[in-house]
Amino acid sequence: MNKKERLPRVAYLCMEYGLHEELPIYSGGLGVLAGDVIKCAGEKKFPMVGIGILWRQGYTTQKICSNGKPYDVFEDIDLSLLKETGVTVKVTVKNKEVVCKVWLLDRYGNAPLYLLDTHLPENGENMNITSRLYLGDDADRVAQEIVLGVGGIRALRALGIKVELYHFNEGHAVLGAVEIIREKMNQGLTFEEAWAETRNMVVFTTHTPVSAGNGSYSHETMYHMGGYNGLTYEQMSRIGGDPFSITVAGLRLSRRTNAVSKTHGETARKMWDHIKDGSPIISITNGVHRTTWQDSRIKEAHEKGKDLWAPHLEAKRELVSEIFKTNNVLFNPEALTIGFARRVTAYKRCELILGNPGELEPMLANGTLQLIFSGKFHPYDEYGRSVIPRIVDLSKKYPQGIVFLENYDIKLGKLLTRGCDVWLNTPRRPLEASGTSGMKAAMNGVLNLSILDGWWPEACRHGINGWQIGHGYEGCNQDEHDLSCLYQVLLNEVIPIYYNDRPKWVDMMRESINSSKWNFSSERMITDYYSRLYAEGEIEEENELPEIISEFCSCAQQG
Ligand SMILES: *Cc1c(COP(=O)(O)O)cnc(C)c1O
Repeated sequence: MNKKERLPRVAYLCMEYGLHEELPIYSGGLGVLAGDVIKCAGEKKFPMVGIGILWRQGYTTQKICSNGKPYDVFEDIDLSLLKETGVTVKVTVKNKEVVCKVWLLDRYGNAPLYLLDTHLPENGENMNITSRLYLGDDADRVAQEIVLGVGGIRALRALGIKVELYHFNEGHAVLGAVEIIREKMNQGLTFEEAWAETRNMVVFTTHTPVSAGNGSYSHETMYHMGGYNGLTYEQMSRIGGDPFSITVAGLRLSRRTNAVSKTHGETARKMWDHIKDGSPIISITNGVHRTTWQDSRIKEAHEKGKDLWAPHLEAKRELVSEIFKTNNVLFNPEALTIGFARRVTAYKRCELILGNPGELEPMLANGTLQLIFSGKFHPYDEYGRSVIPRIVDLSKKYPQGIVFLENYDIKLGKLLTRGCDVWLNTPRRPLEASGTSGMKAAMNGVLNLSILDGWWPEACRHGINGWQIGHGYEGCNQDEHDLSCLYQVLLNEVIPIYYNDRPKWVDMMRESINSSKWNFSSERMITDYYSRLYAEGEIEEENELPEIISEFCSCAQQG
């Protein structure tokens, strides 16, 4: 018997999926991870089916005026990519029946992905529940979560898909477990019995220590919108607390939870230690879909032991020509190029490297150093809105040294994580849960220069496959500390090796690919899901805290 035939069939539920730039029903890392899971499951024949939402207007297309001011555009997505299933299901929102049409997406070699859509005339104003990802107030968000969770489970039933396990990728889908409890109570089980049985069929992935990513709703909103789904206040607060936290609910409605890197596991266990009846949190580090993210020319040169610089330079030239097309500035493909593309939000510290422009100024002016920035902010985030004009201003001062590319998406992500020389990551520890863009870069021999947070402590061998910044330091003056470490590594190691020791640079590129191509691939991650997250009974504990962190932390404390 084929080994995979014995694997449990899993329904994977997520609010967003980033499969391809032409179908922008994702906002960032969470969606791209989910897209990579569904693509890898399709390619490697893992028994999985995805459930999500068809965001009719996607997330924001974020553009920038010539004066540096960002603005949001919402465009209708292209429906020709989807197939009709002929299936609809109903959910109740604010005492009204809402019809959800179920679409099928199977065009990226992915496992079947079913997407729910409320955009039907009979839904009246509820048509817009599935218009825009992560927008609206708490009541709107609860409505979206009812469609994903309750609608998602009902869609599986209506499609006749039998699954043994439900995997909630982030807390947005937890109302799906409430629906399974309701089903079981309808069959005569008590609440306690139904909860215990449901918990045994659910696993949960938590993705961030940042509070905005761990939403909670007042019970008034939950009740009013129909989030209770037949349960009582007492029952719902036992599940999610008061206010109703979707992460707490995820912990209490699952038999096992995973964090998305070893360091994040440490952080998440501390963070949720007070939830005594939550499921145990293990670490399964994220991975990325190689076929999507690794440049085929780099892959081939690496596998055949050929020169990596030539294909690297090709990818770099493609990035340079895209920058010329979009921003009308001509970067030099021979000059050291550092990329920084992330969600524009405070903990990512987009501006850290610019903290002391005096030090970098000569290099930005004379063409030694080129910085490429990109990233979207959430349309409600005023901090994010204020950052981009400052970077755009600096890019006007150093047109050959700094550029900001608008509307960071999968297309730009691909160009950047194969076309830069260095991938910079400077989150405030310990808030980066994973940081999958660094894995994409690593697989292309784009060298990571990163704070020891998220995935990087597991991969980093300083000076061999990339560089660490800041020795894992956490505490007062973290910004100043990390900035000074960043400049030291940049000026004393990165720049001299790039310009004076190309053979060493190319060796580092090879090491970077060697150490990431399996360890940080979606295939490794899904294999771990089946053996550690989906498995029943006890699993082996592993050494959770990467050695590099304890090593560096102790020296940071001494110094
Ligand atoms: C990979 C990716 C992300 C996530 O990367 P981080 O390192 O977590 O910032 C976000 N957006 C896009 C478009 C991506 O491709």
